[in-house]
Amino acid sequence: MSEICRSIGFFFTPLAIRRVAEKGFTWAVGAPKAEVEQMAVPKSKITRSRRGQRRSHDALVAANPNECSNCGELKRPHHVCSACGHYADREVVTLVDEIDLDEDAA
Ligand SMILES: [Zn+2]
Repeated sequence: MSEICRSIGFFFTPLAIRRVAEKGFTWAVGAPKAEVEQMAVPKSKITRSRRGQRRSHDALVAANPNECSNCGELKRPHHVCSACGHYADREVVTLVDEIDLDEDAA
């Protein structure tokens, strides 16, 4: 198992390696292509540095909600309040409690 791990440069999780081992195919160079299930294989190892550089943009940013000036509910900045339909102290969306679908169908 560790030999497989070394040969592919630690790119796969132990679970993935186990699945590969169970399927029984190999990356051996020169193996007949018909017998080897083709899959994408990394050309070379990604160093800790390059991996870190890639992940430097992955951090999640906390939401920054504002309080609605009309109803006080938390809302996204520069967005219509989903609780009361107000934006910049004006009602821009009229919210209704319930839509009677049968009324239109009749
Ligand atoms: Zn509101």
